[in-house]
Parts: sequence; C-alpha cells; structure tokens
Amino acid sequence: MIIVHYGELALKGKNRSHFERLLRKNIQNKIPDANVKKDMGHVNVDTKISNKKATEILTKIPGVEYFSFSEKAELNIESINKTALAIAKKIHKKTPLKNFKITTKRRYKDTELDTPTINNKLGFHIGDKLNIPAQMKDPDLNIKVEVVKDAAFISTEDIRGVGGFPVDPEQKVVALLSGGFDSPVAAFKLMKRGCEVILVHFQNKNTLTKAVQDKVEQLAKQLSNFQPKTQLYIVHFEDIQKDIIKDVKADYRMLIYRCIMLQIAEGIAQKHKARFLVTGDALSQVASQTINNLESVYSTVEMRIFTPLIGFDKNEIMNIAKKIGTFDISNLPYGDCCSYFVPEHPKLRARKD
Ligand code: ATP
Ligand code: MG
Repeated sequence: MIIVHYGELALKGKNRSHFERLLRKNIQNKIPDANVKKDMGHVNVDTKISNKKATEILTKIPGVEYFSFSEKAELNIESINKTALAIAKKIHKKTPLKNFKITTKRRYKDTELDTPTINNKLGFHIGDKLNIPAQMKDPDLNIKVEVVKDAAFISTEDIRGVGGFPVDPEQKVVALLSGGFDSPVAAFKLMKRGCEVILVHFQNKNTLTKAVQDKVEQLAKQLSNFQPKTQLYIVHFEDIQKDIIKDVKADYRMLIYRCIMLQIAEGIAQKHKARFLVTGDALSQVASQTINNLESVYSTVEMRIFTPLIGFDKNEIMNIAKKIGTFDISNLPYGDCCSYFVPEHPKLRARKD
C-alpha cells in the first residue's frame, strides 16, 4: 500500500474535497490498475506495479507532497511488532543500523492502542531483537506507524513529490513552448499550480530539421507526465514569417514574430476556453525580454499572460529543468524560428505604437 500525503491542499477549507477528488482521479489516470481510496488526511494507493515504477509516476503528479510504501499490520501490538521487525531486519541486513526511532501517528483517536504504548512496546521489541539503541535525533532508521480505524501502516521512508495542486481540466492555460530551457519549466510551473497546460510550438519548415521536431515532441512527452492529458499544437510559421520579413525592419522582426505567436496562441486558447497564456520569459534575460519589449509585445493581445519565470535567474531555471527531466532534451542542438532573418542586435526598447 502506498500512502500519499498532500500538503498545501490540505489547508484549503471549502475546496478540500474538490482537490482530493482531483488528486485521486489524477493518480488513477497514471496508475490505471490502482485502487485509489480516500482515508483520513491522505490517499491510499493499492497497486501491483513495482515500487520503482510507482515512484517514477508519483514523484510527477502535482498535489502529491510526499508518499511512502507501507506494510499493513493488524491493529494489535503483536502484529505491529512482527511487521515492523520484518521491515527493519531487511534494512539492517543490507546496511547495518546503529540506531533507530519509532514515530507513531494516530489518525483515529478512539482506537484502544495509544501512541505512547506503540512507541514504547515496538521500540523495546526492535531494540531487543536487533540489539541497537533507540535514538531520537538523526536516527539511522525512522519506523513510522500510522494508525487508522482498523489497521496500522508501517513505513520507513518518505519520498517527496512535486507538491502544489492537482491539475484541474477546468483550469486550462496555453503555453508557448520553444525548444529552449525556459518555456518547458514555465509550463511545468503552471501544471504544478493545478492548470491543464496546452502546448503550442511555432516552427518554420525552411529551417526545420527532423531533430527539432523530435525535440519538441520529446519535451511535450516529458511534460505530459505531470498532467493527465496533454495536447501539443505545432504551428507552421514560415508563410507568416515571410510576410513579416517583407514588411518589417530587420531589428523589429523578432518582436513582431512574438506578437503574432501570442495572437495565434490566443486564438487557440479561446477555442479551448483556456483563460491565460504562458511564456517562459524572464525579465532582461535576452533582448526580446527587456521591460519595454515585453510591455509592447504583450500589449498586442487581450488575454492576460502568466510569466512564472519572470524573476528567475537562468541557473535557477536550469536547476528546475534538471529536476523535471527537461534539461537534457532542451540541451539538444536546436534553431528557433525566432532567429529567422533577424540581426544579431534586435531592437531593445520598442514602443507600443
Ligand atoms: P526558452 O528557453 O523557453 O526558449 P529563451 O530564453 O530562449 O526561452 P526566447 O527565445 O526569447 O527566450 O523566448 C521567450 C519565450 O517565447 C519562450 O519562453 C516561449 O514561451 C516563447 N517562444 C519563443 N520561441 C517560440 C517558439 N518557436 N514556439 C513557441 N513559443 C516560443
Ligand atoms: Mg528560445
């Protein structure tokens, strides 16, 4: 049994049951064979898939704060002792333990077995059988006992999830996904806050190689681990770019590409009833992201734009990219259509007009 804990969403009074339902649904979506059940303050996931596979999946589901693989014991001290000792023995055999501690949590207060009794009796049993002392501060092993209505779950390790909120399909946004490092992280950030993110990529088939197409699809695939359903739009941008090149001075072209990208993305968003656009812009990072340029480009669409990375440094973004598995994909060689027929130094301070 996997015990899944949610963090921030546990705080949300009225919305709580809505979030819990979404979280269970999203877990079920990624682990179809699982029996996903609500319990007091957590979710129980019973599945036949391996711990390794389950870890891969659960560490990517927004709303999961942490989880642990646990063994079920009957609600009496003999069964708890026996189950916990078997777990501790296995670990002790692999890497000898110098000490341990017991942490008992009771979800139901009206069970006969109380917390000090379990801590004491189980502590004595483990100490005696493994011949190691209990230690409260930084023990080699923390044996956790969670007492619910009719059972006790025993585990030893909490595995951290991504946190945040479960993705809600009623909360759609459209993210502009390039092949770079930033935009996949921006899309992830919105998923983590509970949005279903539709991805839109613009490409110019005159500069397109198979490698670029693959790269964007790989990024979308990696991002799709974080939400139940992912749609990727690939927009053929070459004709529009040709027109822009004809009519627009070279140093403005990149900004006009951006305006048109946002406008097309806005159309896609309206079609899906998405509420916001998302970009990977970070203030001042590159020429197109000066405060004047962002102001001017963003003013050409009506829809509001989320820029979750606006205050992030590149290395902070890279670190997140590594954690979410997009770094290596973004690192593959790639030419973005934004640099199509633009000078080395594009306009830095475009005015809205
Ligand atoms: P990234 O690493 O995400 O490409 P960047 O630092 O390279 O970002 P820019 O190339 O200036 O920055 O792009 C800024 C933002 O514009 C991107 O984060 C993305 O949201 C959007 N964008 C740029 N090129 C494309 C594209 N070809 N398709 C879709 N969106 C794009
Ligand atoms: Mg880019």
